Amino acid sequence: MTSPADVAPSSAGAGVGEAERYQVIIVGAGLSGMYQLHRLRQLGRSARVYEAGDGVGGTWYWNRYPGARFDSESWTYGFSFSDELLQEWSWNEHFAPQPETLKYCNYVADKFDLRRDITFRARVASAAYDEDANEWEIGLGDGRRARSRFLITAIGPLSAPTLPAIPGLEDFQGEAYHTGRWPHELVRFEGKRVAVIGTGATGVQTITEVAKTAAHLTVFQRTPNWCAPLRNSPIDPDTQKRIKASYPEIFARCRDSFGCFIHAADPRNALEVSPQEREAFYEKLYNEPGFAFWMGNFRDVLIDRAANDTISAFMRGKIRQRVRDPALAEKLIPTNHGFGTRRVPLESGYYEVYNRPNVRLVDLRQTPIERITPHGIATSAAAYQFDMIIYATGFDAITGAFDRIDIRGRAGQRLKEKWADGPRTYLGLQSAGFPNMLTLVGPHNAATFCNIPRCIEQNVDWVTLLLRYMGEKGFTRVEASEAAEDAWTHHVHESAARLLLIQIESWMTGVNRNVPGRHKRTFMAYAGGAPKYRERCDEVAAKGYEGFILS
Ligand SMILES: Cc1cc2nc3c(=O)[nH]c(=O)nc-3n(C[C@H](O)[C@H](O)[C@H](O)COP(=O)(O)OP(=O)(O)OC[C@H]3O[C@@H](n4cnc5c(N)ncnc54)[C@H](O)[C@@H]3O)c2cc1C
Repeated sequence: MTSPADVAPSSAGAGVGEAERYQVIIVGAGLSGMYQLHRLRQLGRSARVYEAGDGVGGTWYWNRYPGARFDSESWTYGFSFSDELLQEWSWNEHFAPQPETLKYCNYVADKFDLRRDITFRARVASAAYDEDANEWEIGLGDGRRARSRFLITAIGPLSAPTLPAIPGLEDFQGEAYHTGRWPHELVRFEGKRVAVIGTGATGVQTITEVAKTAAHLTVFQRTPNWCAPLRNSPIDPDTQKRIKASYPEIFARCRDSFGCFIHAADPRNALEVSPQEREAFYEKLYNEPGFAFWMGNFRDVLIDRAANDTISAFMRGKIRQRVRDPALAEKLIPTNHGFGTRRVPLESGYYEVYNRPNVRLVDLRQTPIERITPHGIATSAAAYQFDMIIYATGFDAITGAFDRIDIRGRAGQRLKEKWADGPRTYLGLQSAGFPNMLTLVGPHNAATFCNIPRCIEQNVDWVTLLLRYMGEKGFTRVEASEAAEDAWTHHVHESAARLLLIQIESWMTGVNRNVPGRHKRTFMAYAGGAPKYRERCDEVAAKGYEGFILS
């Protein structure tokens, strides 16, 4: 049922000039935006998606760098909402490469005929709440405008790329690419001197691939990370059949685990078993695919320092075994954080890259970059010449895409200013003062620590039911109360307090030294786990959307 105050789509709205009007505007056509559009259509709502890129897929549309692939098992990542889709689509590899995932996103868009309600090449530059009309007005980069009762952001947790804060970026005369804005055309490395700046999850994938064909590769490393083996393999026909026959069990397992991955933590504490048993368990996990080593480990390795020390020591041993030059191995071993307290890159031969004669490592802790020059990179110790520089410097995570839109709520309040000292939200789905704006995979949501599509489906289903409820009851406005927001924000910080990672600077704690104003540690995600988060969201809904003011 549709609320009486919902507006029907039309090309021109009274008093708003040329603004197009919809019941709901969704920003972003990644998995979140695509699924939200599908569910709103089922609800009979008119919705329009505005997407900056010229295709669907979000992350998988933009991140075309060499080596880009899943860390999630492919068969746990795809949408679960359509049995037909699950049976039709066959993943070729346990951890699909980016082209396969982009193909999947396009397949979903075609199957559910999504493109007719998506405007591509449409970057939303502003979004302002008009209190009198109880509507949002968005402004696109090219001046076009559109209005709607509800605004749903699906702009991605890792979608605002950042370049390093180094002078001279514009001076370089060779080829330069950011991994998150990789060209659609084939980029060749043969015969070239290539530099990669950054050794996070993306850098590790890129470096491993580029080293295979570049004439010479120089890796500029500021912070080494603890990388664990991905152990990818093709999916054979028998396994394919088994996967397709067991989707309900697969998704049930994901649903019950902390981060909706197939891996669940071992119920034992690391120090309660003998050193031999512990070592054998680590060895077994090290040989398992995906995030088993991170997520399937002893339950206390990410919260107890002594437990964490045991796993970090095991990993140090592995790096020393795999890298032939002992001095180089030491440079690749993290010293400022324990295993798992920053995002763990999964690798397929990363450490062995450093045994190749065409690869060198520059440790930026010893010799920092001073500037990019017309022909390369100058550190405090040397001037290096390159044909290509690849910036694997990641994203202004979680709130970056919000900051890049001028979002104004009631009384013109700017979201960026409200969140200047860290996000404030209720359930990670709304922020007080921004009525009718709902934030999928936003800050303080369980989604950030999640096998994300599992959490996207939860977020979208919850938002869709909220809109249905409002329609049925004749409500046209929903806003989180200040009290509910305070309590949730407090709970988010409390939920993270016991984690070792809260003591470490990383994008998970809101620190990005390449972005002005991102130097202070805060907490960006809900760390109580997806099951608890889902329970809380369901409870709020069951109590008539407790903590939200509906009118
Ligand atoms: C390299 C890489 C690998 C990853 N691997 C995994 C993995 O293995 N498992 C996992 O669970 N997660 C992974 N992730 C996280 C990934 O982002 C999510 O899995 C998921 O794709 C998020 O979907 P989304 O739709 O919420 O956001 P996105 O896919 O980021 O889509 C957001 C969309 O919004 C658009 N947008 C943003 N701002 C605007 C604006 N102002 N106007 C218009 N459009 C806008 C963007 O162009 C983008 O298309 C990975 C991320 C990266 C970067």
